[in-house]
Amino acid sequence: MSKRKITLIPGDGIGPEVSLAMQRCVDATGVSVEWETVHAGSEIMEKKGTPLPDDVLESVKKNRIAIKGPITTPVGSGFRSVNVALRKELDLYACLRPCKLYPGIISPFDKINLIIVRENTEDLYSGIEFDAGTAEANTLVQKITELNPKAKMHPKPAISIKPISQFATERIVKFAFETAIKNNRKKVTAVHKANIMKCTDGLFLRVAKEVARQYEGKIAFEDRIVDNMSMQLVQRPHEYDVLVLPNLYGDIISDLCAGLIGGLGIAPGANIGEGIALFEATHGSAPKYKGLNKANPTAMILSAVLMLDHIGETKAAQKLENAVAAILKEGRSVTYDLKKDRNDSTAVGTSQMADAIIKAMR
Ligand code: NAD
Repeated sequence: MSKRKITLIPGDGIGPEVSLAMQRCVDATGVSVEWETVHAGSEIMEKKGTPLPDDVLESVKKNRIAIKGPITTPVGSGFRSVNVALRKELDLYACLRPCKLYPGIISPFDKINLIIVRENTEDLYSGIEFDAGTAEANTLVQKITELNPKAKMHPKPAISIKPISQFATERIVKFAFETAIKNNRKKVTAVHKANIMKCTDGLFLRVAKEVARQYEGKIAFEDRIVDNMSMQLVQRPHEYDVLVLPNLYGDIISDLCAGLIGGLGIAPGANIGEGIALFEATHGSAPKYKGLNKANPTAMILSAVLMLDHIGETKAAQKLENAVAAILKEGRSVTYDLKKDRNDSTAVGTSQMADAIIKAMR
């Protein structure tokens, strides 16, 4: 049987450690994978002068399936996010982040099984920004005040643009409804701030309602304002099912929901486009844990479960998820972040947790 080629981008910080743990677990399922490893991020930037070399994009475009570890993005200055660039370059328009509470995980709730669908290509993440005091920002301010004389701004503001389009909203809301159908879910909730941002979020809400009409009788629909949604999720998460959000709210609410199911170490993710998908954990590169064999590999391994399911290897996906669930339930061979006391000396390292998961598959 020919091997399935998958692009692996190990990332930086804790990325290479959690990627290796994931790779070993996938290999142990028995699925025949040929890993094509390519590198992106700050280290390759020093060697090749770009954090996203062409061979990375070429490999993902060729193999159509990729999995990546987190990549550090410098804050405030430096190169733009490689993660955002990959999503935009490959038009991976849908970010899928299931948030499931596994038995054994410490949480104030008994049951959480949410699916977050985040729009990945527009909103304030479009990278259309103007630094304070630049000629471009000044021209823009002048133009805005010409177009809208009521617009009031303090002198020399920095400006970020928030495009929200009918095309991208329709596409992501449809994706959310199709995800609901595929996963036997009952309801989609659109999250927005249309009471304040009447044009951008107003469009998002209007289009979401239009798309929802096509699914009437099959999947229920409702909407929530993002601040209210945040409160509801920490009080009554079981009342929600599939959430669909524009890019920025999706990013923030994903981390909030990760907190409900045991933390970022548990939360997997997928970025999906037409016939192409890149899987990655919700968490970042946690630089302080780099090279310490300390980070939790679960989010990365569960991202691989999503990947196996996506490529039709459903049995292998189930086998791997069951093994992860068994180790979480037992609570013995888990990393520090899953112990009641974070200083618990019985916590195991990244690679030992992967060993335990592999053993549980046998
Ligand atoms: P982070 O997710 O790296 O860390 C947030 C907190 O969660 C930290 O306390 C960290 O130690 C903990 N944590 C994260 N992953 C963990 C794991 N697997 N096991 C145990 N604990 C874990 O977020 P941050 O500190 O805001 O960002 C660090 C860097 O990662 C930044 O440069 C950011 O831009 C980048 N980032 C990358 C991605 C991506 O590659 N998709 C996503 C988010 C952040």
